[in-house]
Amino acid sequence: MFTRLTLAATLAAAPALADDVNVYSYRQPELLAPLTDAFEAETGINVNVAYMKKGMVERLTAEGKRSPADLIFTVDAARMAAMVEAGLTQPVTSATLSANVPPAFHDPDGHWWTLTTRARVVYASKDRVADADITTYEDLVDPKWKGRICTRSGTHPYNVALTAAYLHHHGAEATREWLKGLKANLARKPQGNDRAQIKAIWAGECDISIGNTYYMGAMLKNEEQQAWADSVRLLFPTFENGGAHVNISGVAMTGAAPNKENAIKFMEFLASPKAQQIYAETNYEYPIAPGTPPSDLVASWGSFAPDEADLMDIARMRPDALKLVEEVDFDG
Ligand code: FE
Repeated sequence: MFTRLTLAATLAAAPALADDVNVYSYRQPELLAPLTDAFEAETGINVNVAYMKKGMVERLTAEGKRSPADLIFTVDAARMAAMVEAGLTQPVTSATLSANVPPAFHDPDGHWWTLTTRARVVYASKDRVADADITTYEDLVDPKWKGRICTRSGTHPYNVALTAAYLHHHGAEATREWLKGLKANLARKPQGNDRAQIKAIWAGECDISIGNTYYMGAMLKNEEQQAWADSVRLLFPTFENGGAHVNISGVAMTGAAPNKENAIKFMEFLASPKAQQIYAETNYEYPIAPGTPPSDLVASWGSFAPDEADLMDIARMRPDALKLVEEVDFDG
């Protein structure tokens, strides 16, 4: 048997066994390994994963019909949409997937399927911010936050998606004003990742930040970052006319997929209660399958009403959102 291959180059060079499922993944080994292990133990089907940080579209395009990849894993609905638009995916229909993934969370034709969700929310200093201080994304531009907000780059996909959702709810003019107001309230230029902003709250540089929910769990697992996590709590803002901004992680089958049959088995496994629970416990994301609850830790952060804006509408607004972010020189 082939052992699991973790290097992109190795996967490309080695002809995989006929029954193997080959995956290109933007998701990290710490998350995927428990899932592939559980699937292999249950089915005896080997899963090879090439982990990538960028360039998946280019690579799949270059490989064309000869691509060894069966499945692609990524986060962000817009990235999923880009794969479909580039013609790199094929539709998958499956009663198991349909039963576990609500209609709003998969492509109508089955080109991509959500496996987990995450909300983009506010991390607030336990000492310096009260729960009632912020209840909406619109609140972020209140002058009372002047010099008190930290965030990563406005051009990062997580923030572009949030801005696209704002655009969906309020239109271009209001979104431009919101971005300007948010920029005016920043304690420092956008920099670092989501966790770096929470570190800054811990260090007293700012009082609130914008971040994805699962980073709270990730920080609590990390010796150095535990103190950052302990200094904040999660607040779940909503749009004034909507819910909390949610994005997804998901899977799609490549157009070339040499091992379609086993690849579908793996997709169905990932939507099953066993795998959904692994996602919940390992990565602190919200399971997509209605029957699987979030982990106790995640549930302890509070509940929220997810925004009901169509994920693909938001994905389509992404270029316009990015343009506005650049127009107001958000990172400058
Ligand atoms: Fe992330």
